[in-house]
Amino acid sequence: MIAVLKQGATKQQIENLCTWFKSQGLDVHISEGKFYTVMGLIGDTSKIDIDMLQDLEIIESVKRISEPFKSANRKFHPEDSVIGIGGLKIGGGNFQLIAGPCSVESPEQIMEIAEKVKASGASILRGGAFKPRTSPYDFQGLRAEGLELLLMAKEKTGMPIITEIMDANHLPLFEKVDIIQVGARNMQNFELLKELGKTKKPILLKRGLANNLKELLMSAEYIMAGGNNDVILCERGIRTFETYTRNTLDLSAIPMLRELTHLPIVVDPSHATGIARLVKPMAMAAAAAGADGIMIEVHNDPQHALCDGAQSLTPEQFEDVAERIGKILEVVKQ
Ligand code: PEP
Ligand code: MN
Repeated sequence: MIAVLKQGATKQQIENLCTWFKSQGLDVHISEGKFYTVMGLIGDTSKIDIDMLQDLEIIESVKRISEPFKSANRKFHPEDSVIGIGGLKIGGGNFQLIAGPCSVESPEQIMEIAEKVKASGASILRGGAFKPRTSPYDFQGLRAEGLELLLMAKEKTGMPIITEIMDANHLPLFEKVDIIQVGARNMQNFELLKELGKTKKPILLKRGLANNLKELLMSAEYIMAGGNNDVILCERGIRTFETYTRNTLDLSAIPMLRELTHLPIVVDPSHATGIARLVKPMAMAAAAAGADGIMIEVHNDPQHALCDGAQSLTPEQFEDVAERIGKILEVVKQ
């Protein structure tokens, strides 16, 4: 980090600032120019509040040289992280296909979908039990009962399961869940992230609707700082001025995150587009761009789905998409 001091900063002010930086465990390199004094701060500056520095009377400008995320940073962990999920792995060349309904609705619904997506090549079953809905009058999920049904499908099919948590108080219910999902709306629910940092479960962290990649990585950092390094990032589209699609899928997030972090990257083309017929081309594009996993919403009767029917594929459509993804992965591996 580099801090440029204002002209006229007094010796005493410079000394005080220098002492404070040292108390934060940093080495300080001072170079005095004709007009400006520049301080080079060497060490772990991730805990330094850049806005607070910027506000100091003697500071002209501050610039970070290294990113504020440390645990998630590829610079400090050059190898891809490989995360274990039940008997499966994701990351470092291990790809997983996640599929299932937006919400668990009934035993028949989740079982039929689970069996069909498994037969088509999905390796992990998704299904929402606690649903974050924009309207309080919309279906909120079957909650604890939904989790029970998901666990039943896990038992019957042998597929690991992923489902969303909205409240840290619900954690005891998630004991047998294989991956805990943090939805887009909770990406910056820092108290929830801190609690998840204390667990030993893989966490799939979805990018917020209006969050940049640095913010996504800082949220991953919250979980990792608590001791849980098993974080999977998920690009699920962001809000732009485009209105034909539900969101805009930021495919460049995949290669960009690949450079910045060692964490596995999953793409969700269902929430990104909101339109079932767009899921196939975007899923193929995500596989081609190097995603470690793809998560797709599948429903046995999309027209009557209690949530997100318009973006849900039928099991038959999913079979076709899964086959296409497989073909793209073969090409990409060459
Ligand atoms: C979901 O995956 O069920 C979901 C609600 O997605 P998002 O948080 O990305 O909107
Ligand atoms: Mn959904």
